[in-house]
Amino acid sequence: MRIALIAHDKKKPEMITLATKYKHVLEKHTLYATGTTGRLVAEATGLKINLKKSGPLGGDQEIGSMIANDKLDFVIFLRDPLSSQPHEPDINALLRLCDVMEKPLATNRASALIMLKALEKDKLHLFKKD
Ligand code: PGA
Repeated sequence: MRIALIAHDKKKPEMITLATKYKHVLEKHTLYATGTTGRLVAEATGLKINLKKSGPLGGDQEIGSMIANDKLDFVIFLRDPLSSQPHEPDINALLRLCDVMEKPLATNRASALIMLKALEKDKLHLFKKD
């Protein structure tokens, strides 16, 4: 599957912990990420990640474009709900496109865990739209 990883600054440690714990799952899939998230996760885990631009510099729009073009299967976007972001419009656009395209989207660690556990158990059918 094609998976995008994005984390706001205060959530990057959570993303690194998650990616480290589920490295054995993630390494079987094609990974994309916004620039800083992807670099930090790759450094911490050794996972191969296709890096987009940093989120505030257009990375969220690049991921959004992939969603619009059906080039991603699901998104883990660990958002920081307690800080305002300069690129809020880009974030909203990405979230909206996930809904438009009916892409599974986890915006916090609890829902990301459900998705990663489903992948771990090879329950790939759960990600299909039927
Ligand atoms: P970053 O972008 O991974 O480059 O920090 C994430 C974001 O803020 O959308």
